[in-house]
Amino acid sequence: MKKRLAILGAGESGVGAAQLALKEGYDVFVSDRSKIKEKYKSVLTGLKVEWEEETHSEDRILSSDEIIKSPGIPDTAPLIKKAHEKGTPVISEIEFAARYSKAHFTCITGSNGKTTTTLMIYHLYQKAGLDVGLAGNIGQSFAKQVAEGDREYFVLELSSFQLDGMFDFKADIAVLLNITPDHLDRYEYKMENYVASKMRILQNMDKNGAFIYWADDEFIPNAMKNYSIEAKCYPFSDTQELKEGASLNKIKEKLQININNQTFEMSIHDLALQGKHNLYNSMASGISGRILDLRKELIRESLSDFQNIEHRLEHVTNVHGIEFINDSKATNVNSTWYALESMGKPTVWIVGGVDKGNDYSMLFELVKDKVKAIICLGNDNQKIVDAFGDKVGAIQQAKTAREAVTKAYELATKGDAVLLSPACASFDLFENYEDRGHQFKTAVRSL
Ligand code: ADP
Repeated sequence: MKKRLAILGAGESGVGAAQLALKEGYDVFVSDRSKIKEKYKSVLTGLKVEWEEETHSEDRILSSDEIIKSPGIPDTAPLIKKAHEKGTPVISEIEFAARYSKAHFTCITGSNGKTTTTLMIYHLYQKAGLDVGLAGNIGQSFAKQVAEGDREYFVLELSSFQLDGMFDFKADIAVLLNITPDHLDRYEYKMENYVASKMRILQNMDKNGAFIYWADDEFIPNAMKNYSIEAKCYPFSDTQELKEGASLNKIKEKLQININNQTFEMSIHDLALQGKHNLYNSMASGISGRILDLRKELIRESLSDFQNIEHRLEHVTNVHGIEFINDSKATNVNSTWYALESMGKPTVWIVGGVDKGNDYSMLFELVKDKVKAIICLGNDNQKIVDAFGDKVGAIQQAKTAREAVTKAYELATKGDAVLLSPACASFDLFENYEDRGHQFKTAVRSL
């Protein structure tokens, strides 16, 4: 008899999983509690798979042999709890698709920098001529790609929600960039639960695997003590000199990677992406390249010609000597810290949106040092005014991206930068962070 599979959530990952599951001979049922987007509906219809929207038929779902859950559905959802009680396995699309792929997996997780590093590594592997796919928390569904033809390599961006639904999956190269408090609402507000979720990237790895991690992270080295790690470890750091791994040679201003008694060096000024956080992302990417024994020249080239996608410290344009930078993707305080840290010019900073219980104190020093004026862009700006009002020359409020840009432009002078790095979610005034970034760029271009 066919194995019965229920797929919860008909988005990119759910619909991709349905495609692969059909190919592999499962009896598939797709259920979404919300309305399904038209483009996915037509794929499901084309696949001739049974589906439902705006409801979950509990009996049918709970009688299946296995459930694939969209990463957006929390474990505390009543239906998932019932599945757990019944002992029905609940897995993620990544776990499912990996069963049918023979690829070498390079997996990237962390609280910040996942997408940048994933794309950087993908760029590197592509340049090296590897047969490589890009998937996970980015772009096209992993399962869909596997259904349409396996690859030799996959670079996978993994969120903690995806990792939570992974059990037998084994990474070949695992990258853990950093762990800072985020999404704690999904982890019973316990940091240790969130850390444990990130550490799942290591599960099942054996001595043939490689674990790349940030040695100076507040949580990672401590958490590692609780695991018996068989994979070979490659830390990266800009404060410690590492015999095996990546370090910063401050005197020569070079990034240095030592692996198997071989040294790779590159001037930090040649890195495509500047800022301390991007030095870390470049170190992690460079290590993965060296582990695969890619040519040093090729790694150097890819780290210097990489182009990041929008909304991440993205240079928009210069207007009368004022540089405008779009960092709309900085939706938490930590990522904004790195944005401010990387600013080499007096900065007019546009900040605000939906506060996620932000503690702004970690930004005080940087703001005093680098920020000349603040524009608050949100519905409720009081917390920002209270936190920074006494630390900058001027603080003003705006309700639209255009108003924020106009005000920032007035306050800036030649040689300054205007930085949108909100440290907050965008849902009060915008559809999402992309919309916020686009509106910012449109306003800048119409100055
Ligand atoms: P993610 O996919 O994890 O959300 P992104 O690569 O999209 O991360 O970057 C989001 C924001 O996080 C960027 O705008 C940048 O300000 C910040 N950031 C990027 N890399 C790092 C890093 N290694 N450490 C801390 N912050 C980072």
